[in-house]
Amino acid sequence: MKVLVTGGAGYIGSVTAERLLDAGHEVTVFDNLSRGHRAAVDPRARFIRGDLCRRADIEAAFDGVSFDAVLHFAAFALVGESMQKPELYFENNVGGGLNLLEAMRAHGVRRIIFSSTCATYGKPDRVPIDETLPQRPENPYGESKLMLETMLRWYERLHSFRPVSLRYFNACGATPRLGEDHDPETHLIPNILRVVLGQSEALPVFGNDYETPDGTCIRDYIHVADLANAHLLAMASDYVGAFNLGVGNGYSVLEVVKAARTVTGHPIPIRIEPRRPGDPPRLVASAERARTLLGWTPHRSDIHAVLEDAWAWHRAHPNGYAGVVPS
Ligand code: UDP
Repeated sequence: MKVLVTGGAGYIGSVTAERLLDAGHEVTVFDNLSRGHRAAVDPRARFIRGDLCRRADIEAAFDGVSFDAVLHFAAFALVGESMQKPELYFENNVGGGLNLLEAMRAHGVRRIIFSSTCATYGKPDRVPIDETLPQRPENPYGESKLMLETMLRWYERLHSFRPVSLRYFNACGATPRLGEDHDPETHLIPNILRVVLGQSEALPVFGNDYETPDGTCIRDYIHVADLANAHLLAMASDYVGAFNLGVGNGYSVLEVVKAARTVTGHPIPIRIEPRRPGDPPRLVASAERARTLLGWTPHRSDIHAVLEDAWAWHRAHPNGYAGVVPS
């Protein structure tokens, strides 16, 4: 298939582009490189540097290629930042998303696999979270993703789009070539590995007084390679609608630190800090729908395997993509 991957220089987008190319698909990566990395773009892909917020940029990407599907990753994705600068999230994620949908409509492309998030659920009434739970986002990031999901439902109804929204839980891990490199880094596993690499002295643990067994927050950590596979399955299927992507097991912050000590052999000192605003105590997926309808099974999401892959990448790229020459 001919596939347009927006945000294909970012973390999950680059890994999915790699998987698509391995599977023999023809990939165009569209990315403005504001947060992605040129070195993360697979050399087998056609690369267009462009910005979704500029309608002409995304229109031009459709010229001369008849895409079978669009995989839409390009977005801002930091909860904390979205609470400080909500306008960035509505402009880029919602406004940019609308430009993409309109370019697709103009060119008769109707299959879209959209990167959504468990942040659309807000603080869930129960866990595990299945797709029937109400979506009540508690930050502009989750709201912006829900707004695009809603737009997609209307485009399905009124413009014959065939959208799939994949609601990711906590993406993590790496492939040998591609890993997680954000600036600033706010995610748990890269921050743990920064301690191992000697780039920070101790891991800040944001709150140990939650109503969980050890007092720290519980998350569902899903390997980025397993997320990538879900996109290929969704693309090949005829389904429309939303799918949660997680393992169905939760780990607390302290449990992840303990597993990281085992994998790296480093003591990883911690420092207890106040709670981080907006962190729900427990987010765990029910991914039954993806398992049943898409035949999706996570293969690499055991927490030790995740940490081994992340550690291998960070050890080989202690400064992330800085200094990695694009091939
Ligand atoms: N966390 C932490 N220290 C860090 C980074 C994260 O204690 O340096 C905690 C965070 O408060 C949350 C969990 O680890 O409970 C996962 O955070 P992350 O930012 O990786 O993902 P999120 O669940 O916010 O999308």
